[in-house]
Amino acid sequence: MEQQSVDKDYLEYRKKRVKRIKRFLLISLTVLLILPNVLCIYLLIQVNHTNRILEETQENLWELSVQLEDANAAAAVEMAMIPMQVEDEMLQEVIPDSLLYEGKERVYLTFDDGPSEYTDEILDILDEYEVKATFFVLAKDGYEEQYQRIVDEGHTLALHSYTHQYGQIYESPEAFRQDITMLSDYLFDITGYRCEFYRFPGGSSNTIIQFDKNECFDVLEEENLVYFDWNVTSKDASTYRLSAQSITDNVLNGTQQTNPSVVLMHDASDKYTTVQALPQIIETLLADENTVLLPITNGTAPVCHVVRSEEETEQ
Ligand code: ZN
Repeated sequence: MEQQSVDKDYLEYRKKRVKRIKRFLLISLTVLLILPNVLCIYLLIQVNHTNRILEETQENLWELSVQLEDANAAAAVEMAMIPMQVEDEMLQEVIPDSLLYEGKERVYLTFDDGPSEYTDEILDILDEYEVKATFFVLAKDGYEEQYQRIVDEGHTLALHSYTHQYGQIYESPEAFRQDITMLSDYLFDITGYRCEFYRFPGGSSNTIIQFDKNECFDVLEEENLVYFDWNVTSKDASTYRLSAQSITDNVLNGTQQTNPSVVLMHDASDKYTTVQALPQIIETLLADENTVLLPITNGTAPVCHVVRSEEETEQ
């Protein structure tokens, strides 16, 4: 009986043990099965999260690189602009003829009242001696080629008058301005060049102007024009026709006495002796190595008989 009870207990015990082992195994198995999954899920979440961070970082990096590229491009443009600005400044910075030709006798040959039937001949002579001059012209239809030649061959095309009618030009500041702007536009239409220099018909010391001369200077300033008179005259405007020799003598005597010399001559139909005098004038001037013949430019110091003031001095 007792033996039976012991067996039963033992059996019971074994049953329980097996059950415990089974439970343990089951739990272990469950844990072993679930844990990797959980780990996997956890790792997946982590990977996902890291991916998102990576993506964001990449995006930020890309944005940064774009900004950097923009900045680089802007910097490159700026760097390119600097030499352009320097170049502009250099272009704007006019070197005066007095510096450029320091120690030289500077002679500026100027021809008023053209073009005429002699303009081509004058241009040919200047071309032969490789000399540049300045032409203070009028508005004359039929001389389109001559205006263009003056510009193309490196001479200075400058304003004199549209009409050359003193009474009309000097009637009022408005008439004065109109004469200038009409001529400037006329020449611009033909040559594409906007003139920068002006010569008063009769010179700035003329007594024909019927209003305050300062108003003329105002107009010239407003039109961005610099006016030039002369300090040497060929006297070829005399009522009687001067010989070529007299014109030559007048010019050469004058240029010997002053530096720089702005020489007044005429390009007009009744002034052929001026054309005849031209080769000898140029040859004599060029024979002196210290003399240069120049066109009027922004670097030329204006020669003016009258400047903005109450007092008017006659040349
Ligand atoms: Zn004139």
